[in-house]
Amino acid sequence: AINEEEDNAEDLEPRAPIVTVMGHVDHGKTSLLDTIRQTNVIAGEAGGITQHIGAYNVKLKSGRRITFLDTPGHEAFTAMRARGAKVTDIAIIIVAADDNVMPQTVEAINHASAAGVPIVFAINKIDKPGANPEKIKETLAGMNYLVEDWGGKYQSQDISAKQGLGVDELLEKVLLEAELLDLKANPNRRATGSVIESSLDKGRGYLSTVLVENGTLKKGDIVLAGTYFGRVKAMFNERNASIDAAAPAAPALILGLNGAPQAGDIFHVLETEQEAREIATKREQLQREQGLRTQKILTLDDIGRRIAIGNFQQLNVIVKGDVDGSVEALSDSLIRLSTEEIQVNVIHKAVGQISESDIVLAAASDAIIIGFQVRPSQAARRAAEKDGVEIRLYSIIYDAIEEVKSAMEGMLSPEIKEVLTGYVEVREVFKITKVGTVAGCMVKEGKLKRANKIRLIRDGIVIYSGELGSLKRFKDDVKEVAAGYECGLNIHNYNDIKIGDVIEPFEEIEVKKTL
Ligand code: GDP
Repeated sequence: AINEEEDNAEDLEPRAPIVTVMGHVDHGKTSLLDTIRQTNVIAGEAGGITQHIGAYNVKLKSGRRITFLDTPGHEAFTAMRARGAKVTDIAIIIVAADDNVMPQTVEAINHASAAGVPIVFAINKIDKPGANPEKIKETLAGMNYLVEDWGGKYQSQDISAKQGLGVDELLEKVLLEAELLDLKANPNRRATGSVIESSLDKGRGYLSTVLVENGTLKKGDIVLAGTYFGRVKAMFNERNASIDAAAPAAPALILGLNGAPQAGDIFHVLETEQEAREIATKREQLQREQGLRTQKILTLDDIGRRIAIGNFQQLNVIVKGDVDGSVEALSDSLIRLSTEEIQVNVIHKAVGQISESDIVLAAASDAIIIGFQVRPSQAARRAAEKDGVEIRLYSIIYDAIEEVKSAMEGMLSPEIKEVLTGYVEVREVFKITKVGTVAGCMVKEGKLKRANKIRLIRDGIVIYSGELGSLKRFKDDVKEVAAGYECGLNIHNYNDIKIGDVIEPFEEIEVKKTL
């Protein structure tokens, strides 16, 4: 069986911290990782890192080790967490000092915080003439991330990834943070850990990079990861050297599984191949039954029920809105709904369209998404459906707050539910005197009815809600236009329509809530 036994304290030995670097694109993540790799080649192990396997371990001049995850970004980090892995001990958030704290910086910070991972800030590109690290620290302070030299608790280091300035100091600060975590593992047990990435190699079959979290993984071990298993035929480290064993916090590329498990799948070593096959088959069956739905579904309606049976203490929400003011107002009000029994946490808030990254974060953190005057992207909508993440969209802040409040009180009142009836694209715009703006549109999905209420959406943000003023096919007024047809329309009392805008028609129906 899977060995879930706790280790005895005397069997535990210190292990290297596992670190992920995250930040806005072009702020220097790759440069920092490259510099760390090049300047910390392990003595006596010539050749340095020759192979990308998704993670690597470096030995610092002080003799201490750090394992870096080379994942593509905070989405990957959170997607792995959604699958059960907790593969990061510390996050380095990198911010370019000649730029600003950017939306992706904020996302990275919030993804790390939602995972409960300590953050160390690397303020990069200080060699550049326009660099202003203090401005970055000031912005962070404004977000309640006060760095140490501003009297706060977050470590930060000014660096130039390109010139190698401050990188050693940064790593020392990472190790300091790691000490507080008191990271330990028992090297003398069957290994467990996470899958970092998998691929299919023409000559060698399935390859998976795994990161050992506890125990020691050995050649010949029977590994079970997700719905796949197999005997480890060969193992390699990040320097492409064949190895016989991988200790805690060491990455290893393994050969021998009968498929490619997903990043974030947990692996275990089992005693017999038969046992591994049985569990893998059972998991596969379960997945089929659940229609591949692996995430639990948290909906607002759920909350009342969960409170009633007493297993709910925390409501995680992600707030997206059209402007800073609405995002702040909504987040503050939601947090203020917290009671002694149930805490409302805003784990991420931002202006703009609801993105796939938001869905990934929600799925991993058991959160619901509250959107005010914004819409999900098509990709986000699909991901939400697949992962069972609830997106609640509002056009009145008060409604959002009232609904969450009622859900927390376990009594949702009848709700006016909105049903989207179509998707319409604006392709041409004509200014016509006395009439105003007439938009030449294409109904892409569903239908557009003259009587519909509509919303005008630009780049995922709701910029106007109202009614149609007219709806025509050629010269004739019509009651409705079906998908695949063009039409001309104008919006009652609104003229700022632009090419590329989306018009979303909807109907309102009253539904009784059941709990
Ligand atoms: P990533 O997208 O976060 O991985 O960023 P990269 O590491 O690819 O860096 C983006 C650009 O910034 C590249 O042109 C780098 O050469 C440059 N860059 C990265 N770090 C520094 C630095 O410390 N100083 C300067 N001057 N440029 C840097």
